[in-house]
Amino acid sequence: MSNVTVCVRFRPLSSKEKRDLGDNICIQSMDSETFIIKDEKEEGFTFSFDKVFYEESKQADVYEFLVLPIVRDTVNSINGTIITYGQTGAGKTYSMEGPNILESDERKKGILPRVVDGLFARIKTSADSTKYTVKLSMVEIYMEKVRDLFDLSKDNIQIKESKTQGIVLSGATEVIYFLQKLLFPLGLTYTEMNMASSRSHCVYMFTLNQESISEKRVKSGKLILVDLAGSEKVEKTGAEGRVLEEAKTINKSLSALGNVINALTCGSPAKANHIPYRDSKLTRMLQDALGGNSRTALLCCCSPSPSNASESLSTLRFGARAKHIKTSPLVKVSEEKCSKKNGDASGTRDESFEKIL
Ligand code: ADP
Ligand code: MG
Repeated sequence: MSNVTVCVRFRPLSSKEKRDLGDNICIQSMDSETFIIKDEKEEGFTFSFDKVFYEESKQADVYEFLVLPIVRDTVNSINGTIITYGQTGAGKTYSMEGPNILESDERKKGILPRVVDGLFARIKTSADSTKYTVKLSMVEIYMEKVRDLFDLSKDNIQIKESKTQGIVLSGATEVIYFLQKLLFPLGLTYTEMNMASSRSHCVYMFTLNQESISEKRVKSGKLILVDLAGSEKVEKTGAEGRVLEEAKTINKSLSALGNVINALTCGSPAKANHIPYRDSKLTRMLQDALGGNSRTALLCCCSPSPSNASESLSTLRFGARAKHIKTSPLVKVSEEKCSKKNGDASGTRDESFEKIL
């Protein structure tokens, strides 16, 4: 059993926050794991996490502590999940992707491009008698529907559970990486990409297959990156109409996530027998990550400004509960024949990486 790793990242104050309240922040750092946060009534709350990244932290720091161990596990065929949580504007997408998805400044690159580099770096140093395939599916959960971001005509992808592969996105486009330098494989350019809205949950699912030629076995590891929609309360957003409906759906799926975490960590065997994974698409998709076969890390993103203290507190309380989740990561080996084509959307491109790298 392994505990979910939970870290917190405070972004720098925004220019608006600085204009409104100067350089005031509501957090006081104790050390790299512990800090005190004050609410609007100046009451202080102490929190401890696996690691706290303060505003001067670098993208590389977050990657090395939170993500790299999980990338190493993926190469050893252990599933992994990395989730960013927090209110809108707290730094989830900045941490997950970088300031923009095609950021060329290496220092600013977020988790996603670093994962691609990390996976390929590991593959290159592995044994020669293994064939590797890296595939990526990219979907968003919007208004309780799963939409394929590689093919918008697939706007109702079903989430299924397979005995051998765990949770799968049935029929979602899987693109195969040929070159690590192409963040989006098969030559897709930025403008051709369908970027996820910040009012949806965005999910990147990597699958790394390793065919051992000598043993005629396939090992596979899945790495899921999840950039959640903003967790702020609906009332605070002053939303109306469609935006209000979106906000309510987001709140509902994040509450479902909270309920799953409560059921997993409440310690009561009766409740633990029924974990309400099926209450939302998000929790269904994260079933392995929350209590199943996955090594999981959560990055709680927060503003350090007193004006956002109540939202930051709610994010931190969510993180504190998630720390108690235990998962059971396992190595999966399938007995498939080495030459078997899996009939995915990319047809016969199921080639060896030995030739390509
Ligand atoms: P979210 O995805 O949580 O809604 P974003 O990641 O889009 O929030 O961040 C909001 C703004 O703050 C963006 O302009 C982003 O570039 C900036 N930002 C967030 N985190 C950091 C950080 N650690 N360092 C510098 N700028 C950041
Ligand atoms: Mg975002």
